[in-house]
Amino acid sequence: MLLIKGGMVVDPSRRINGRYDLVISDCRVKALAPGIEPEGMEVIDAAGKIVIPGLFDMHTHLREPGQEYKETVLTGSRAAAAGGYTSITALPNTNPSLDNKDVVRYVREKAELAGLVRVWPVGAVTKGSLGRELADIGGMKEAGVVAVTDDGRGVAATDLLREALIQCRQLNIPLLQHCEDEAISGAGQLHEGSVSLRLGQSGIPAAAETRMLKRDLQIAQETGARLHIMHVSTARAVEMIRRAKAEGVNVTAEVTPHHLLLTDELVAALFAMAKMKPPLRTAADVEALREGLSDGTIDAVATDHAPHSESEKSGDFTAAPFGIVGLETAFAVLYTHLVKSRMLPLDLLVEKMSCSPAAILGLPYGTLSPGSAADLVILDLETKRVINRHQFYSKGKNTPFHDWEVYGTPVLTMVAGKVVMRDGIVSGHANEGSNNEN
Ligand SMILES: [Zn+2]
Repeated sequence: MLLIKGGMVVDPSRRINGRYDLVISDCRVKALAPGIEPEGMEVIDAAGKIVIPGLFDMHTHLREPGQEYKETVLTGSRAAAAGGYTSITALPNTNPSLDNKDVVRYVREKAELAGLVRVWPVGAVTKGSLGRELADIGGMKEAGVVAVTDDGRGVAATDLLREALIQCRQLNIPLLQHCEDEAISGAGQLHEGSVSLRLGQSGIPAAAETRMLKRDLQIAQETGARLHIMHVSTARAVEMIRRAKAEGVNVTAEVTPHHLLLTDELVAALFAMAKMKPPLRTAADVEALREGLSDGTIDAVATDHAPHSESEKSGDFTAAPFGIVGLETAFAVLYTHLVKSRMLPLDLLVEKMSCSPAAILGLPYGTLSPGSAADLVILDLETKRVINRHQFYSKGKNTPFHDWEVYGTPVLTMVAGKVVMRDGIVSGHANEGSNNEN
C-alpha cells in the first residue's frame, strides 16, 4: 500500500478541491480522505503540490508502424509519462494504416511492451483513410479501438460519413472528424489573412473548416450518432457547435493548446515550427475558442501531438509537413497562460484535459474516485522552468513553445498504481534528449 500525503487534490469528477491524502492499493485508489495516518505504508510526500487524475490525450499521433524515425509507441509513451498523461490515443494515419484488426493488435502489443501509459488505438473510418471504402469498423472495435477517424483528412464523401456514423452509433463509439474541405484549403500553408498575404503564401480560409462542419452537424443530427469535432480553430465553428448543442445534436468538440494560445502572426517568426492543420488563426478566433472552452461548447483539450523529424521541419516552409508535438508542454503552457493568469479556474482545465476526454471515449478514467484505477499526476505549480525542446523524450522536437517560461510541471506520473515518471525521469529509460537517431 502506498500513501500520497499532504497534496491539494483537484478532482472535478467529484467536485473535490482541497487537502486530501490518497491510499493506493492493488492498482486502484483505495481511499481519499483528509489526514490519513501512514501506519506502515510507503509514503509519497505531495506537500505543496497538486494531485489530479492523470491527463488523457484523445488526439495523439504515434507514427508506428511505418514512420518510426518520427516517433514510436515507446517514445510517444515516454513523452506522455513525462507530460503527466496516463492515457493517450494512437491515431490511424500510420503506414500501414490502422484500418484493420491486425494493425490494432500490433499497436496494442507495442504499448504493452512499452509498459508506461495506456494507449488507446483509434481506427480509420475508410480503408487507408483514402475516403473510398469503409474500413471494417466492427472488427476493429472487437480488436480494441475506442473510436474511428480519418484524421489528417476529413471524411469527404457524405454517403460514407453517414454510413460510418450509423455503424458507430450501433457500436456505441464516437467518430472523430477532422473538418477540412480540401477543395477550399487546397495548397494553403497557413491561415488566409494579412499574414499569408505578407508572406506571399496561399492561405487556408476559415470556410475550409466550417463548410465541412456544417454538413457533419446535419448528418449527426439526422443519425443521432456521436460526432466529435477535432481541433476546432475558428470563431465561426465555435458558434456553430454551440448552436448545434442547443438543438440537441450529439456533438462534442476539442481544442488544442496551440489554438488557445497562438495566432498566425507567429508563423512569420517561426515558419514551419508554427505550421499545422488547421492553421493558427486570428486573435478573435483565440478569444472565441477560450470562451467556448469556458462555457462548455468545447468539451476537451487535445494535443494533436504530431512529431516530425528536424530536417523535415527546418527546410523549405512550403515543403515542411503540418503539425507540432504537444505531450510534454500542454499542461504547463495552458496552466501558465490561462489559469495562473486567472482566465480559467484550475478545475476547469483539469476537467478538459482529463475527465472529459475519458468520458467522450466512454472510458472509466479521469477520476480519483475510490475503486477507480490509480492513474494520477502530481504537479508543481510554483517552480518556474524554461521549456527546452532538446530535452523532450519525444523524437519530435517540433514545437513553437521552445524557450517559454512556464509553471505547472508534472513531477510524478502514476499509471495503475505504478510510478512511471518521477522528477522528470521516465522509469526504466534515460532521457535520450537530442541524441536520438533522427
Ligand atoms: Zn487533424
